[in-house]
Parts: sequence; structure tokens; C-alpha cells
Amino acid sequence: STFKALGLNDAILQAVTDMGFKAPSEVQEKAIPVLLREETDVVALAQTGTGKTAAFGFPLIQRIDVNNRNTQGLILSPTRELCLQITNELKNYSSHVKGLNVVAVYGGANIQEQARQISRGAQIIVATPGRMQDMMRRNMVDITGIDYCVLDEADEMLNMGFYEDITTILADTPKDKKTWLFSATMPKEVARIAKQFMKSPIEITV
Ligand code: AMP
Repeated sequence: STFKALGLNDAILQAVTDMGFKAPSEVQEKAIPVLLREETDVVALAQTGTGKTAAFGFPLIQRIDVNNRNTQGLILSPTRELCLQITNELKNYSSHVKGLNVVAVYGGANIQEQARQISRGAQIIVATPGRMQDMMRRNMVDITGIDYCVLDEADEMLNMGFYEDITTILADTPKDKKTWLFSATMPKEVARIAKQFMKSPIEITV
């Protein structure tokens, strides 16, 4: 298949060309059409290195309303490194999308500076769970109107003890948002999160 056939728009296809991606990977081929078109929760089992960031990143970017400055998408990831990596990837994917702001929120860096970036209008926030909760407590972020929540490397986040943080964060998001959970494995802790917070998710396996 081609990226165009998956339903991606011209701005994203231009970025695909810039980045030199020739053809969609398996997880991209399976997930992109579903995440672009279906109004449903999704659980995707995919390892790192399979192209999963673009599998959720392309549809998320395409679904954002850039004329609205409110936060519409939240991506939770287990580590600062992954958070920065995802943010950089999303910035590359959206290099031809005018007016889209992606902001990284993670511990060990100046919280006021991250708050400043968010106050300028961040349609997508990529966050580690601890710092995200901290910013919520200080009223530095508003995720009460998000449309999409991505839980990336859900198994890793739960292994690292972020269950409480994740549930507190999700409790502050709308009931009717879409949740896209990506995980390399499906231990019972991940199944529990899925059961607790997701409505009849479509399952994608690669
Ligand atoms: P990820 O699994 O998201 O960490 O992606 C692994 C690496 O593969 C990243 O450097 C991506 O930029 C790259 N990548 C993702 N999708 C493709 C593709 N369809 N063709 C070539 N490279 C890709």
C-alpha cells in the first residue's frame, strides 16, 4: 500500500516525502485507516522500532483543528527520552501543517518554561505522567476538552509505577474522548487499564 491510499492528507504526505519514508510499515498500514476514520477506542500491540509513533502521530495530526488553540490531544509516554523523541517526530510529521503546536512536558526541566509554551496554545501535549499531574495540580494545563488520548508504551508506564498518575490524569479528560493504547505486551495491568478506561476497543496486532 501507499501512505496516500491510507487516507493521509497532502500536508502529511509532503512530510512523508521529506522524511524519505517509502512505504507504510505493517502497524501503520493497519492502524492509520482505523485511527483516521473510526470514532472508537483502539488497542494496538506493537513493539518499538515498528513505526508506531507515525501510526498514531499521522492520524492525530490530521484530526487536530489548527484553528482552535485548545489542547485537543494528549500523549502519555513513560520516559523523558521517549517524550522528547515523540515530540521531535511529531514536529517533523507536521512541518507542513501551519498553526500546529506540539509541546513536551517532562520532569527534570523548568516547569515555568513548559507552562509558558502551553499558554501559547498547544493542540498536542506529549507528557510523562508525573510532570503532567504536577502541571494539572498547578492549573498549568487544561485537558478537560481533549478529543484524543494516546497511551504509548502502556506496559512500560505501568511497569514504572505510573498507574495512579495515569488514572488521575484520565479522570480529568472527557468521557467521550478517543483513547488509543499502544503497548508491546498485554500483561494484566494493561488489560485492566483498557477495561477500566476504554469502550469496546478495536484491537490491532502486528
Ligand atoms: P518508532 O517505532 O515509531 O520508534 O519508529 C522507528 C523509526 O522508523 C523512526 O526513526 C521512524 O522515523 C522510522 N520510520 C517510521 N515509519 C517509517 C516508514 N514507513 N519508513 C521508513 N522509516 C520509518
